[in-house]
Amino acid sequence: MLAEILTVGDELLTGNTVDSNSSFIAKRLTEKGYVVRRKTTVGDDVEEIAGVIEEILGRKPRVLVISGGLGPTHDDVTMLGVARALGRNLVLCEPCLERIAEFYRKLHERGLIDDPELNEARRKMAYLPEGSKPLENPEGAAPGAFIEHNGVKIFVLPGMPREMKAMLEKEVLPELGAGRFTQRKLLAEVTDESKLAPVLRETLKRFNVRIHSSPKGFGRYIGIIIFSESEEEIERARAFMESLGVRFEE
Ligand code: ATP
Ligand code: MG
Repeated sequence: MLAEILTVGDELLTGNTVDSNSSFIAKRLTEKGYVVRRKTTVGDDVEEIAGVIEEILGRKPRVLVISGGLGPTHDDVTMLGVARALGRNLVLCEPCLERIAEFYRKLHERGLIDDPELNEARRKMAYLPEGSKPLENPEGAAPGAFIEHNGVKIFVLPGMPREMKAMLEKEVLPELGAGRFTQRKLLAEVTDESKLAPVLRETLKRFNVRIHSSPKGFGRYIGIIIFSESEEEIERARAFMESLGVRFEE
């Protein structure tokens, strides 16, 4: 089950903001049993966004999660980019507009903003690609969108990490099934990674697992993570490595 992630924002390309959203999304998708094949980042540019989405769709992942650029300002053009890539129009989502109006009314009641009325910039957030299911934003104004396009499930989420996380947990992950996936983190008592390399190679040949090794420098331990759909397979892989002389600490 392949997945891809697209993050959008000029601030990600200048390095002013660290792209923590894609790590968070990748972690959750991996836990659901998806293999994240690629993460891509582009700036706030309609053509760039549309072009990269077309490329991603050409690779036919099962899932594409997009984050960023849903807000009210001129540079928030992600929905337009998605619509263009899919050859759809942006259409007004009436319930979204009501929800946005209510969101600003409440902020006004709490004294956080000086104007509760819908203006053009606020209205803009209620336009979604035709055929989308709106995704509720429990933490902010802009709704997200869920679109199924030629067998790819596309989720468009806000960039603000708090909003993105809330929407991912509540609206996206439940759509992705139960997921069969497990991982085990172990510390191998090996002084350098090259000693582990032949062991990993043999293990990967024999067992249905993926293994990441993450050295922290030279010394006593190498951290490894074993991924599989089955707990038993992880155990068998671990036992095999031990039979080749590797000692582990959990
Ligand atoms: P909103 O989330 O307010 O609806 P939005 O979807 O337009 O707006 P952006 O304007 O792209 O989101 O970003 C909002 C904030 O979230 C900014 O402070 C931005 O730096 C931060 N942000 C955006 N993308 C990411 C990311 N991939 N990782 C971490 N932070 C991000
Ligand atoms: Mg942005």
